[in-house]
Amino acid sequence: MSTPAPTTPEPHAQATQVASGPIYAGTDDVSTLAYGPTRTVTAEAPARIFGDYELLVEVGRGGMGVVYKARQITLNRVVALKMILPGHLASKDDLERFRMEAEATAQLQHPGIVAVYEVGELNGQHFYSMEYVAGQSLSQRLGNGPLPPRVAARYVMQVARAIGYAHRHHILHRDLKPSNILVDGDDQPHVTDFGLAKKLGGDSGQTKTGAVLGTPSYMSPEQASGRVKELGPAADVYGMGAMLYELLTGRPPFRSDTPLDTIRHVLDQIPAPPRLLNPKLEHDLETICLKCLEKDPRDRYPSADALADDLNRYLKGDSISARSFNLIDRISRTLDRTQYAAEFGAWGNMLLLFALIMAVEHGVMFFAQHALHADLVFVTARVTQFSLMGYLFWRYRHKRVLPNNAAERQLWSIWIGYLVACIAAVLIGRQLMAGAETYRLVVYPTWMVLAGMAFFIMGSSYWGQCYLIGLAFFLLAVLMPLRIEWAPLEFGAIWAATFLVLGLRLRSFQTSDPEVAKRDEGDTRRDVT
Ligand code: ATP
Ligand code: MG
Repeated sequence: MSTPAPTTPEPHAQATQVASGPIYAGTDDVSTLAYGPTRTVTAEAPARIFGDYELLVEVGRGGMGVVYKARQITLNRVVALKMILPGHLASKDDLERFRMEAEATAQLQHPGIVAVYEVGELNGQHFYSMEYVAGQSLSQRLGNGPLPPRVAARYVMQVARAIGYAHRHHILHRDLKPSNILVDGDDQPHVTDFGLAKKLGGDSGQTKTGAVLGTPSYMSPEQASGRVKELGPAADVYGMGAMLYELLTGRPPFRSDTPLDTIRHVLDQIPAPPRLLNPKLEHDLETICLKCLEKDPRDRYPSADALADDLNRYLKGDSISARSFNLIDRISRTLDRTQYAAEFGAWGNMLLLFALIMAVEHGVMFFAQHALHADLVFVTARVTQFSLMGYLFWRYRHKRVLPNNAAERQLWSIWIGYLVACIAAVLIGRQLMAGAETYRLVVYPTWMVLAGMAFFIMGSSYWGQCYLIGLAFFLLAVLMPLRIEWAPLEFGAIWAATFLVLGLRLRSFQTSDPEVAKRDEGDTRRDVT
């Protein structure tokens, strides 16, 4: 790497007018997110001659800088020149990233990686020159719709080989996406824009914990959540999976109206199977693609080379190493699925108290059911239960009753619906069973069925094991009529056990994530105690 001696631009330097416009394009979810707020800056007209380079034409702009096709005068060769414009407005972070990008790429010499020729600064203008790739980027190719599957597989296989090479040189790309793959006249893909490159295991100074860098639609969940320390080759495997997904279906796995929504989906949602969007796809290619997009990095291919090998097997017609999931796998993955646990981490202690209330209340009701004033006891117990639970709920939620976000809104709908249905069941039971000795108890099995239903719905959105809780409620509902006098005890016991399980789980989640724990602890101290 060399830094050219600053030279004064030629007198006719201002002749070429550079289109003005935003240089920092990090506000949608296809541009790389840059540090700091989006700034709209007007590009100054640069010299047509820039040091050793004659700027021929602007070929494109991205989140970091502007790229020109240029001629290197001394060597008389065509190059691509990337620079941040205008130099004096770039922040320290931007310059540091720009320098890192150039340095990282300059270390790599591989036919699948755009070669960097020179890194430098001229009159405060940071730039680097690189191999000029005459052709289209994959995002431009996508303008005509999805690519034929075998073509897409070949491109991603070649990209994976190049990225495997970069990984062996301890460099992660972290921003793999179709616009960063340039396809030359021989139909060979070249990886460019190591704009977020990070030395594996090294401290680049760019990777502040919690900073979200990358492009939301192609970002791995660990990158999207700012878990910078967890970033490894699997993050690039994810990026290549997202790219393959888009090449096969015409859209990335997740793309929403705002980058924040996209990030949320990257963290929480499961991508739609590519074959749903493109039924002509082969099952094996879909399996390879989805394996790259696993939320847990350990479930992805262990390396870029392993991904390249599997794509090669697919292209040769051999059987692939990734397997699609059988029924048992699917069930166990469904049960393991967790969403929003962090949001509800602070509810752990509240649910433990709920468990205690349910156990005590229903114990009292069980022993009081034959008492003289059983009706009074039942009513008092219920009023006490709901008052206590309501109060705890209000305190633990910082004196707010209404839902705060989509996850809470759904929870509210489920459980308000459950409570209304329970009241309806009481009213129906009273009419049908008027005068019967067990009229107070017959509603229990119905309540159990309703609760089972509610947990089933929660299974799909919050925690897979809620399906099992739902099944336990259904089972007990069916058995309950055999000894109906045990109903209050059974009802209290299953609810107490459920709150206990959920409470302990949320508590453990709360403490296993230090960031969340700190936030929740702070909230709890401030508002609950
Ligand atoms: P982002 O910054 O969000 O990643 P981007 O990838 O489009 O967006 P740049 O990497 O700055 O931004 O590139 C801008 C455009 O310049 C690219 O879309 C590409 O078409 C073109 N380009 C980049 N490098 C080269 C090159 N070596 N040869 C030819 N064209 C190039
Ligand atoms: Mg780019």
